[in-house]
Amino acid sequence: YAKNQGANRYQFFSESMNEQAIKRLHLESLMRQALKEGMFEVHYQPQYSVERQQMVGMEALVRLRHPEQGLIFPGDFMPLAEESGLIIDIGNLVLEQACKTVQQWRDIGLYKGHIAINLSAKELDLDNFSDHVEAVLAKTGLPANALELEITESSVMQSPKTAVESMQALRRQGIMLALDDFGTGYSSLAYLKKFPITTLKIDRTFVMDLESSLEDRQMANAIITIAHNLGLEVIAEGVETHDQLKILSAMSCDVCQGYYFSKPLSQRDMTTLLSTQQGNLPIELMETAP
Ligand code: C2E
Ligand code: MG
Ligand code: MG
Ligand code: MG
Repeated sequence: YAKNQGANRYQFFSESMNEQAIKRLHLESLMRQALKEGMFEVHYQPQYSVERQQMVGMEALVRLRHPEQGLIFPGDFMPLAEESGLIIDIGNLVLEQACKTVQQWRDIGLYKGHIAINLSAKELDLDNFSDHVEAVLAKTGLPANALELEITESSVMQSPKTAVESMQALRRQGIMLALDDFGTGYSSLAYLKKFPITTLKIDRTFVMDLESSLEDRQMANAIITIAHNLGLEVIAEGVETHDQLKILSAMSCDVCQGYYFSKPLSQRDMTTLLSTQQGNLPIELMETAP
């Protein structure tokens, strides 16, 4: 593996050293440094049950804390992390850190819900990925049913056979599986049946224009109905307004996540939120809730 990366690097240098290539080299070495020196941070975004008005889950989202540039977001480093294979080590770090932190919150009675963690195609493709997850759960004490792994259609489609096998092994452990960004990729209804998932996440692009677009409302409603008929739980991501929440609630969407409730929070800020709200929907949002 190391040799391979060495070879890639060499290839890199032999190309014309344009600015783009230099930037990528900098970013790759920044990610290596970040892995070594603990500069990656996991942030947590709450997910609220519409019916129960309670935080039932949170999603782990990785950030790189740069000493001068501040927080760097996954959009800026994930593509290269995937391409370079560094995503394996980053994914590992997020899994271990998030499981450990959430189990600490659970141990002291601050939190009862689950943690959702994003997976890349490369992780899902590892031979022994489900064994690795099992080992992390054993080490951190987090029960399997408090872990949800988020997978996109496109990452499953990179090598469907291994991916589905990995997914089945994870399900056998009792881990929940969410199909992320639904509606943006293949969005094939056949996959909803073929993939052993428990949860469907409606992509933000469908939620964005719910108030103004009849088409998007019909689409969201159809997705929710089909998902429920297949026994899946539905989460809407990117909920930013009370009207969107009201519409989704009327469509019986189970769980909502988005800036309307909270941005992703640092471990410290999430600890404060859990301590002060005890997982309840904030009063000011509750009053206007549907
Ligand atoms: P995602 O899994 O679909 O995560 C949702 C993204 O939408 C997050 O962006 C989140 O901060 C953002 N978001 C949440 N609510 C709202 C809202 O109301 N409005 C808007 N405009 N955005 C909202 P983020 O944190 O920048 O992450 C981007 C993507 O990077 C994620 O999309 C996921 O695909 C990937 N990612 C993040 N962390 C990890 C990780 O640990 N591992 C892997 N493999 N991928 C990750
Ligand atoms: Mg996600
Ligand atoms: Mg998503
Ligand atoms: Mg998304």
